[in-house]
Amino acid sequence: MQVFERQFIDGHWQSTQGRELVLHNPATEAPAAIVRLGSIADVDAAVAAARAALPAWSVTSFQERASILATAAGILQAQAGSLAESFAAEIGTPISVAKRLQVDTAIRLFHEAPRWVQARTGDDHLDRTLVSHVPIGVVACIAPWNYPLYLSACKVVPALLAGATVVLKPSELAPASIVAMADALHRAGLPKGVFNVVFGTGVEAGERLVTHPDVDAVSFTGSTGVGRRIAELAGRELKKVTLELGGKSPSIVLAGADLPRAVNSTLQKCLQNAGQTCAALTRLLVPDADYAAACSIAAAAANAIRVGDPLDVATELGPVISAKQRDQALALLQQAMDEGASLVAGGPDRPAHLPRGYFIAPTVVGMQDRDLAITRTEAFAPILTVQSYRDEEEAIAMANGTPFGLSGAVWAADESEALRVARRIRAGSVSINGAATHPDAPFGGFRHSGFGRERGAYGIDEFLTTQAFNR
Ligand code: NAD
Repeated sequence: MQVFERQFIDGHWQSTQGRELVLHNPATEAPAAIVRLGSIADVDAAVAAARAALPAWSVTSFQERASILATAAGILQAQAGSLAESFAAEIGTPISVAKRLQVDTAIRLFHEAPRWVQARTGDDHLDRTLVSHVPIGVVACIAPWNYPLYLSACKVVPALLAGATVVLKPSELAPASIVAMADALHRAGLPKGVFNVVFGTGVEAGERLVTHPDVDAVSFTGSTGVGRRIAELAGRELKKVTLELGGKSPSIVLAGADLPRAVNSTLQKCLQNAGQTCAALTRLLVPDADYAAACSIAAAAANAIRVGDPLDVATELGPVISAKQRDQALALLQQAMDEGASLVAGGPDRPAHLPRGYFIAPTVVGMQDRDLAITRTEAFAPILTVQSYRDEEEAIAMANGTPFGLSGAVWAADESEALRVARRIRAGSVSINGAATHPDAPFGGFRHSGFGRERGAYGIDEFLTTQAFNR
């Protein structure tokens, strides 16, 4: 059993008085790790360390910061194999994809972010007036469990490069890679206090961090409900907040598009990390005439997916992280079926060959043009809905018909036609005919998917503020 006893504060792993949390392996349900939760006193100590480290760190050269991060990236790279195994054990990400999805994506940020920051550093000149971009101060970063290293790095790396100091409260459910990141930054020579980690619950450690008077800005990734609470708390203190929240992202297939390619790609994006991906394409919208064909393509693909032990290299789909996550998703699925949705593949029954573990079969539900709770509510599970539409206007209305607006996709025979429709989708990023996300493109939401942006030069602005020197 792994034990995570300490918090990383002021350059040291420090013992703590908080209570223990037992984590279970999602594939076996067996106890797998113990995490000692950081207390309010730990948060206070971490913020004090970050505050004390700020004056010296904020005036280091950009090259010095980038060089420490490059060294840390090399240290993490050397552990890529064991990190991938930790994601399989903690979250259930199959080992066949864990390195690419969870490790390489994070390490790439360490190499890409210096390019983004360079675009925002240096002074602007307005006649004789100088406008400087300066670090925002002490930043609280609060991250979820589904891509723990990558989503934490999306905040920590640009914040450090911008000259801010950081207290990270990662999810208490996935600690291993965060311990590795703290160790790597420390070994790379990051001065003490610049980066601190407190494992703890959201209600205790998280809220203390958000409301702490010495925290200048909050960067949060997680659920919409918690995002709303954080915005309220931070609003009372007039702190700057970035919120990367949930999604229910549509994939619109226009008449004449390559249907098999669109359906297969959408299903694959929906099922990634067992559906526990904020930007997952979870709603497939097809023309009436293509509904039956889309369902049968999706069913064939879903039924061919190998579900099982995440540590088996042949496995394509692992379990969801917890019994709670599984039960919530299955309740939503059952509700959809009770409301008249039809099961196209998978379903609420546990896969027969897996007697233990929080497994959900890759599931496709069809509902022609019905609008049910499952098409508006984040399931965070391997469940794709297929709906049909009569015309383009209806497709766009359906795509925009949830409170979310994180991402989306449009498929068409003609790229300009796809772009025309994509421009009408109210979401932070939209893929055209399956194109991958550009590493420098901003990522973030509209409406209940949050506000502010991560990645690229746009994301750096969340960690900088301006000072005008009028001469
Ligand atoms: P969550 O909102 O439950 O928790 C996220 C983090 O917030 C955790 O560290 C948690 O401990 C902390 N937290 C919880 N309550 C808090 C509070 N009251 N004050 C301060 N912090 C608090 O989310 P989760 O279950 O860890 O992750 C899944 C959710 O995250 C999904 O809704 C998913 O869509 C979303 N997500 C969004 C993005 C994005 O970039 N938009 C990326 C990944 C995940």
